Amino acid sequence: MRGLSVILPAYNEGEMIPMIAGELEKELTKEKIPYEIIFVSDGSCDDTWEKIEQEAKRSRRIRGLELSRNFGKDAAIFAGLAQAKMDAAAVMDCDLQHPIEALVRMYRIWESGSQIVEGVKKDRGREGAVHREGARWFYKILSRALHVEMENTSDFKLLDRKVVESVLRMPEQHLFFRAISSWVGYQTAQVEYEVGKRQRGESKWKMSSLISYGFRNIVAFTTVPLQFVTVGGVACLICSVILGIYSLIRYFQGQAVEGYTTLLMVLLVVGSGVMISLGIIGFYIGKIYEEVRRRPRYLISRMTASEKTQEEERF
Ligand code: UDP
Ligand code: MG
Repeated sequence: MRGLSVILPAYNEGEMIPMIAGELEKELTKEKIPYEIIFVSDGSCDDTWEKIEQEAKRSRRIRGLELSRNFGKDAAIFAGLAQAKMDAAAVMDCDLQHPIEALVRMYRIWESGSQIVEGVKKDRGREGAVHREGARWFYKILSRALHVEMENTSDFKLLDRKVVESVLRMPEQHLFFRAISSWVGYQTAQVEYEVGKRQRGESKWKMSSLISYGFRNIVAFTTVPLQFVTVGGVACLICSVILGIYSLIRYFQGQAVEGYTTLLMVLLVVGSGVMISLGIIGFYIGKIYEEVRRRPRYLISRMTASEKTQEEERF
């Protein structure tokens, strides 16, 4: 169906739902773009679901589903993509940080032939220096590993039907929309946008969760930490050969040094190196375990009425 599906993952965004639905409707109608709006409540514990239902009752073009618990933004995005029916599907945040004006520009670029149109943040000005540097390294590592440029990209993206199908075919349990949608390739165009201010509520990110998010995704998409283990091992080997030869020479010269401190230092350094390496390898094994279990990536607990009838028709 010619038109645009807008997918909005929402976690405790009760206040935002009517606001963003209204703005989207106004703008897309003005631009004469056929559309549907799909809200995915990611196990919210406020009135997000009630608000989604209200909106769905008000307009046939608005639908919604709720996940059985908080599965994370990426799972919510995938759940929404699986329901999209139009020829283009766009993912955007619920907090109006992604401007609707940029969404319209993306749609126009898609119409002229690009299969992926990604939103690129104009600047990350509001973030602190540590956050900015961390993000730069994170994307540098991922870009290298995936052989695609990912710097400054966000989840604000518009995908052609073909791309949506490719993305949904990815079998992995660990969902990271930004990287998966870059990895699939296709003709990609970019649109710069100014990150808006969150209108209501608060961001769900804390520093600790950002670090863990970064590490989990690097492990899921690259083998860079394992290469660190190997490089560390080789560096240790070189040091030990040099130190070994040096100690032997001293020994034969009859000048063996007093050993306690040296021995303790070496033991501690090597010991902690081994433990860290084991930790990294263990993390990978954990990830493999999660992947082989093949659990569903998300569970849908309820859908709005229109969504249900369409779903029933299909089966
Ligand atoms: N979100 C979600 N599940 C989560 C966390 C966030 O669906 O577990 C949604 C949230 O409702 C919002 C979008 O993801 O629509 C971006 O979240 P947020 O604004 O907290 O992140 P930031 O803009 O600070 O990166
Ligand atoms: Mg936000």
